[in-house]
Amino acid sequence: MSSTCSECGARLVNGGACREQFDAMLLLEYEVVADLAATERARGEVAHFYAVSAYILQHPEGMKYTVTALNGLRHTVADHLAGRVTLAELRPRVRRAADGPARITRRPGDAVPRWPVTAWPMTVADVVEGGTPGYCDRVAAWAESIIRTLDAVDALGER
Ligand SMILES: [Zn+2]
Repeated sequence: MSSTCSECGARLVNGGACREQFDAMLLLEYEVVADLAATERARGEVAHFYAVSAYILQHPEGMKYTVTALNGLRHTVADHLAGRVTLAELRPRVRRAADGPARITRRPGDAVPRWPVTAWPMTVADVVEGGTPGYCDRVAAWAESIIRTLDAVDALGER
């Protein structure tokens, strides 16, 4: 069994699935959010958005997103990182996407999206290894590294 994730390249703990690290990350996040003051709750929501989005973006096959949904998520994350949109503004957008005719997940026969990326600078393993200190900043850095990597790939004209 491979000791790295076939999608994101993360080191796998004891040959477990990458998804186990995703679950470990959410447990970590739960601890972090529980310690946040009420006034900082928005910070926890943003961290959750970055953490889940980053994981999905690095696992287009396993998370079963369509090409359109994956590209939409990429641009949503980029918009939020750049301060062009707030989470409150995104919520109706996300809800519309879920309710509307646009499908998020693939059906048999749909194209499987794959980024032409050979190595990601950061993975879920880096987030989990860091523990609770600096969690919110770390998931933001992770999301940012993904957008930067994808933009670099575009710049090379390899898409
Ligand atoms: Zn992975």
